[in-house]
Amino acid sequence: MTGSDGGPDPDDPLEYDQARWSVDDSRYEPLLSEKNTDRVTVESSLPDGLTRDELTLPSLPEPALARHYTRLSEMNYGVESGPFPLGSCTMKYNPKFTEDVAARREASVHPDRSERSVQGLLEIQHRLQEQLATIGGMDAVTLQPPAGAAGEFTGILIAKAYHEANGDDRTEVVVPDSAHGTNFASAAMAGYDVVELPSGDDGRVDLEALSAALSERTAALMLTNPNTLGLFERNITEIAQMVHEVGGLLYYDGANLNALLGRGRPGDMGFDLMHYNVHKTFATPHGGGGPGAGPVGVTEELAEFLPDPHVRRADGGYERYTPVRSIGKVHGYEGNWLVLLKAYAYITRLGGAGLTDASAKAVLNANYLAERIEYEVPFGPFHHEFVASAGEQDAADAAKRMLDYGVHPPTTKWPETVDEALMTEPTEIERKRTLEQLAAAFNAARADDTETLEDAPQRTAARRIDQASAARNPRLSWQALDDE
Ligand SMILES: *Cc1c(COP(=O)(O)O)cnc(C)c1O
Repeated sequence: MTGSDGGPDPDDPLEYDQARWSVDDSRYEPLLSEKNTDRVTVESSLPDGLTRDELTLPSLPEPALARHYTRLSEMNYGVESGPFPLGSCTMKYNPKFTEDVAARREASVHPDRSERSVQGLLEIQHRLQEQLATIGGMDAVTLQPPAGAAGEFTGILIAKAYHEANGDDRTEVVVPDSAHGTNFASAAMAGYDVVELPSGDDGRVDLEALSAALSERTAALMLTNPNTLGLFERNITEIAQMVHEVGGLLYYDGANLNALLGRGRPGDMGFDLMHYNVHKTFATPHGGGGPGAGPVGVTEELAEFLPDPHVRRADGGYERYTPVRSIGKVHGYEGNWLVLLKAYAYITRLGGAGLTDASAKAVLNANYLAERIEYEVPFGPFHHEFVASAGEQDAADAAKRMLDYGVHPPTTKWPETVDEALMTEPTEIERKRTLEQLAAAFNAARADDTETLEDAPQRTAARRIDQASAARNPRLSWQALDDE
C-alpha cells in the first residue's frame, strides 16, 4: 500500500507502484479513508431530525487529495497518454479549443427555447450541415443520429422509406465480409435479410461475387472506401453502376473518411447516402460508448425522407421543419449538439486546406508505420490504416504485450479476412518519433515468446481482465470490491 499522499510509503520511501485495481493484490490503490486514519467530524447545517449520524471524513490536505485523484486517473490510458492506433476507430487527439467552444455558456441552451431566440445555434447547425454536405459530396445532411451505428440505421431506414415510396418491395442489403459488425446489425434491425459478400484475393470487392449477390431484391449495398484493410476500392464507379442498375442504393460507411478528406468525395463516386463519424474524422472525443454523432448525408432524391426536425434557411434566418416524407425522429431534437459543435469548430478552424493536409499525413503515417514493423503486412500500399498479421502468435496476446511497452495496441482479430489481424491506424496526429516508438513496441512483441505474451500485461494498473464481462456486466463503483 502506498503512503498517505498517494506517493511513497513512509516505512519504505523507495517503494513505488503505479495505482492499480486488483481485489486480490495487497497493493491495490487504497481508498482515501485507508490512506489516512485521522478523522474530522463535519458539522451539518441541517436540522437535527433530518440527519442520520455525524459525518466523519478522512482528514487530508488538498495536495494529497489532488495527488490521489491524479493517481487514479493515471490508471487509464487515453489518446493524451500516448499513441492509440486503434484501427478503424481513428483515435485523433481532440484539440482543446473545440472544448472551449463547446463549454461557452451560450452553447448550452434548452432545446425547447423558441426558434427566434436560438437563431445563432440554428445558423451553426445549418453551416455544419453544409460543411458536411460539401465534404461528402451530398445534397442534404441530418445531424440527428447520435453515433455512426445510429447513422447507418437511419440511412437504411431512409433507403427503406425511399423504396417503399416507389412501391418497390426489396428485402436484402448486401454487406462485404470485411465490413464493421454494425453494418450487418443496422440492416437486420431495419428488417432486411443480410447478404454477405466475400472479398476478392486482393482484399477488395470481387465484382463477380457482387454481380451474383445483386438482384431486384437488393435495397442497398453498404460499403466503406477505403475499406477496413485500408485499401481503396478502385472499381468504385463500376460498383456504383452495378448497384444502380438493379435499382439498389449505394450506402457509404463514413468511418474511414479520414483517408479521403479534401481528396475524394463519396457523392462523386456514386454513393447515394452516407454517415459521418464526427467523433472519428473531426476529432471530437470518443470511446466508452459515447457520446458521439453520426450525421447522415443524402442525395437530393432522398432528402425528403430525412429525420424530423431538419434545419433550413427561412426569411432572414433559420427554422426547423419536418421533411415531407420524414422517417421521423431517431434522437431528441437535433442530436448530440455539443459534440456536433466541436466538430464544427474543428472543421472551421482547419478549413479545406487543413483537412486535406490531415488526410495526407494520416495516409503517410500509416504507410510509414507499415514499413517499419516486422509483422507480416499483407496487401498495400494503404490509405489511412493497415492490417498486419500476427501469424502464429495470438493477436490478442500480442496486443496485451504492447501495453507493457507503453502504447495502446491496435484493433485485433478483425477483419477476419486476415489471420490474427492487427488493424492499425496511427492517424495524422503522431510525429515520426512516436511512430518509431510504436514500431518498437510492435517489434518487441513480435520477438517475445508465447509464455511472455500469455502472461501480459505485467506493468499496467490492471492485468488481464475478462473483456466480455467488463463490457456486458460493468460494475462501476467501489461496491464491486464488496461483491468479490
Ligand atoms: C466505428 C465504425 C462504425 C460505427 O461507428 P460508431 O460511431 O462507433 O457507432 C461503423 N463502421 C466502421 C467501419 C467503423 O469503424
